[in-house]
Amino acid sequence: MNRRRKVYEGKAKILYEGPEPGTLVQHFKDDATAFNNKKHDRVEGKGVLNNRISEYLFNKLGDVGVPTHFIKRLNMREQLIREVEIIPIEVVIRNVAAGSLSTRLGLDEGTTLPRSIVEFYYKSDELDDPMVTEEHITAFGWATPQELDDIMSLALRINDFLSGLFLGVGIRLVDFKVEFGRLWEGEQMRVVLADEISPDCCRLWDIETHDKLDKDRFRRDMGGLVEAYQEVARRLGLHVGNPGQAQSGPVLVQSK
Ligand code: UDP
Repeated sequence: MNRRRKVYEGKAKILYEGPEPGTLVQHFKDDATAFNNKKHDRVEGKGVLNNRISEYLFNKLGDVGVPTHFIKRLNMREQLIREVEIIPIEVVIRNVAAGSLSTRLGLDEGTTLPRSIVEFYYKSDELDDPMVTEEHITAFGWATPQELDDIMSLALRINDFLSGLFLGVGIRLVDFKVEFGRLWEGEQMRVVLADEISPDCCRLWDIETHDKLDKDRFRRDMGGLVEAYQEVARRLGLHVGNPGQAQSGPVLVQSK
C-alpha cells in the first residue's frame, strides 16, 4: 500500500511528499503524451529509462556547477529532489531547426541555426503553452528580470555542456526544453534547474544516420520509442536492464 501523499500529478510524472521537509519524490510514469495530451499511450519501460537518463544528466550538470533540484535516485522509477517553486515558463533551446520552429518559419528540418536560439513558452494546458517574450514574463511577474538573466545564462551553459556530451556519443542535440525553479535557502533564493532532461523533452538525432532517438518517434507514429531511449542510455554508458520489467506502481520510500 502506498501511504505517501501525492503533491502533484502531471502527464508523465507524479510528485510525492519526500521523507524530509523540503524534499519531494519524483516518480516517472510510462505514459507518453503529445499535442497537449490529445495523443496518449502507455509505453512500457519509458519511465525507468527517463529516470536513469535524467539522473545521469542532472548529475553531470551538477558536476560542472549548474545548480539543480536533484538529490539522488531512489529506485528504478523515482528520484529524491529538493522542493522548488516552479517558474511557469518552458525554456526551449534550439541548435538545429525542427518541429514548431520549422513549421512557423518554413525552415527545412535539419538546418543548422546561425546561433543557439532560446525561446520561452508560458506553462498553461488550457492555452496550449503559448510562446511569450521576456516582456510578457516580466510584465506579468512570472519571473523577475534578474531571474530571467539567470535562466538565460543557465540555459546556454546547459546547452553548451549537453551538446558536447551528446556529440561525444554520436548524438546531435537538436533542441530541448527545460524548466527552472526557485530554491529557498533561508532568506536566500536561487534559480535552479528542475523537472527532467530526457528524450521526452529533447530532440536527439544520430550524427551519422540522422535517426531520431527521442519522443518524435511517438509524436510521428514511427514506433521503436523504447528501443530509441534504450540506445541513448546505452551510449551514455547506463545499464538499465529490462526497463519493461520494473514495477509501475509507486514504491514506498524509507526515510532512513
Ligand atoms: N518540448 C517539450 N515539451 C513541450 C513542448 C516542447 O519537452 O511541451 C520540447 C520538444 O521535445 C523539443 C523542443 O521542446 O525537443 C522544441 O519543441 P517544439 O517547439 O518544436 O514543439 P513540438 O514540435 O514538440 O510541438
